[in-house]
Amino acid sequence: MARGAVFLILLMLCSCIPGGRGRQELQRARPPQRAEASSAETLQCHIDLARERIGFRRLPDQRFSGGCSALGAVQLLDIGTPATNLGAMTCPLARQFVRWSREAVRPAAERWLGSPLRRVETFGTFACRGVNGQPGARLSEHAFANAVDVSAFVLADGRRIAVEQGWNGEVERVRRFLRDVHDAGCRRFGITLGPDADAYHYNHLHFDMGRGPYCR
Ligand SMILES: [Zn+2]
Repeated sequence: MARGAVFLILLMLCSCIPGGRGRQELQRARPPQRAEASSAETLQCHIDLARERIGFRRLPDQRFSGGCSALGAVQLLDIGTPATNLGAMTCPLARQFVRWSREAVRPAAERWLGSPLRRVETFGTFACRGVNGQPGARLSEHAFANAVDVSAFVLADGRRIAVEQGWNGEVERVRRFLRDVHDAGCRRFGITLGPDADAYHYNHLHFDMGRGPYCR
């Protein structure tokens, strides 16, 4: 390999791995489709999940055609309150999702609706597609397992609070609850989009750890 190319690779490694990790890391280096979180960041995130007593498993790094990838991702197994359809999530997204569910959604359900939270329903996390599902658009954060779409909440008393029916529905306390959990998302995720953002989000709350902060 030309000396210049080796130097370039070393430069790339040093910029994303604190302290560098030697030859093993060098051999694994590939042209990144998206900047990978450093191994130190990912490790710290795994430690945080364990410390917060979150059941999860680490997923192998996956790269797909079209530039999609799931790197340093985890699958949440037990976060206290079940959440449906959670696939691969980047660790920082998973960490914030659990905090949002525990610190914001649970108390908001009690406060506004007077019933414990039993389940959070989602449309999923990873999807190799463009923004808003539009062909030709830049890749969505979903294409990097860095986003989750929340569609509904099920309460202990059996009620199911869906974003689609509830956001502008007749019950004021349901509207307040949904806005409360939406606004709590704005404080925890990079980007939060709800039904007021645009027509694509009429039936779910989109949370991602991409650039931000952006809250609508
Ligand atoms: Zn989304």
